[in-house]
Amino acid sequence: MDGVLRLIRDDEVKITLPGPSITIKKDGTVWYQGSPILGITDPVKKAEAAKAVKAKKFDKIPSDAFCRIGKNPNGLELVDDAAWATHPLKAAQEAEAAREAEIARKTVTIYLSSRGWGDYSPCEWVGDITRPDDEILAECRKALVEGWDVDNKNQTDDEILKKISTAREKYESESARKAAREKAEAEALQRMIDNGYCFNCETYCHGDCGNYSNDPAVMYRRRLRESAREANYGIEE
Ligand SMILES: [Zn+2]
Repeated sequence: MDGVLRLIRDDEVKITLPGPSITIKKDGTVWYQGSPILGITDPVKKAEAAKAVKAKKFDKIPSDAFCRIGKNPNGLELVDDAAWATHPLKAAQEAEAAREAEIARKTVTIYLSSRGWGDYSPCEWVGDITRPDDEILAECRKALVEGWDVDNKNQTDDEILKKISTAREKYESESARKAAREKAEAEALQRMIDNGYCFNCETYCHGDCGNYSNDPAVMYRRRLRESAREANYGIEE
């Protein structure tokens, strides 16, 4: 098969296998490099099945352990690229990654003070800079007062607020630059589409390649498949 095959159990992708090494038999069972993909969780049954696979006595394996494409009664779900594109787990993974990236983007470090001799880690505040000033101020003051061997404990509210506003201005200008960069990239992509760029063959073929596509997702999906394939080959070596 093309692309990759994902093995999912308990809402988690357990392993990704390269499609070219996958064979689907006439009865629908899926095999990887000459051995059946089995959905067994019981360790004793698993060990027995492993022995049978090694001896190539596939008839000794219980029939409910074999897997077909899609959800299997043994709990293992086999998902090809087409099904993965609309799989709820993919959407959940992407939403979680976006959420984490958003948190990371808003997290900044504010230097508050050095510490005593021999300790090179400064007293800092690390957190979400988009929160209100008074909350951040209170946490900075707590870090200064409760921190170990802080050199400059007694800072005025104005001094600390100035550090907070400097950090926020830096964050806001970076956000604005990032938004401008993303807008420019989107506009460049749109110009390519308007001028007949083909995301299948990645040239301005205007349809000559026979598989014309003006959808950038075609290119991104292929790159994703290629990198997944490379990653898997790496593991097998
Ligand atoms: Zn083309």
